[in-house]
Amino acid sequence: MAARAGAEPAPARERGALRIVGAHGGSRALRDLQARMVECRACPRLVAWREEVARVKVRRFSEHTYWARPVPGFGDPAARLVLVGLAPAAHGGNRTGRMFTGDRSGDFLFAALHRAGFANQPQSVHRHDGLRLRDAFIVAPCRCAPPANVPRPDELRRCSSWLDRELALLPRARVLLALGAVGWDAALQHFARRGIPVPRPRPRFGHGAVARLPGAPALLGSYHVSQQNTNTGKLTPPMMDDVLALARQLLT
Ligand code: SF4
Repeated sequence: MAARAGAEPAPARERGALRIVGAHGGSRALRDLQARMVECRACPRLVAWREEVARVKVRRFSEHTYWARPVPGFGDPAARLVLVGLAPAAHGGNRTGRMFTGDRSGDFLFAALHRAGFANQPQSVHRHDGLRLRDAFIVAPCRCAPPANVPRPDELRRCSSWLDRELALLPRARVLLALGAVGWDAALQHFARRGIPVPRPRPRFGHGAVARLPGAPALLGSYHVSQQNTNTGKLTPPMMDDVLALARQLLT
């Protein structure tokens, strides 16, 4: 990770200018929404944590100026595939200001998206590394880095309005790929808030599980790309390739 850190350009100026790297172009409404999102301070615990992490840092990123704000969605605003993650990592998205950027989870995810044709390159190192998504967009139910990567239910509830509004501005979404059970539940709750009937018992999360609710994008499950999963072999590159191939099938 140290070598990657050295490749990052002038993060202090970027942070000072608040240059958001979220949607590739897209509507004015989406850009405006993301500009408002990055100012959000609605969750005192998460605001304190995202800023403390940015102050204390870790040795390998000691020269970096962290983003330390909510992280907006990233990718192609005309995407049919929308990935629903969990929350930014303290020294990943919270540092770089872009979803899954600058940590091992992102290395795994973007390599897979590149193999599947949804990304123009396999690396995601910093906000201006040239990464572009094709027909894919990434959102999260919690936009601020939480302690121990675990947002509280009240924080997820508060942040759901950002998720709803961002998804409403992705009009071509046909498949939501939930990375983990939290993303799966957030997608189902989002459907319910849209007035889409969600059956009881709720469709169960699993790797490769598919829920098709009338009037909603197809919901597909995948284990999260966390290091805990990828280091232990719970989620392997072939498993991720299979899920993305299934996503591709659901898009056609
Ligand atoms: S988690 Fe969401 S609602 Fe809470 S402060 Fe961050 S952006 Fe705002």
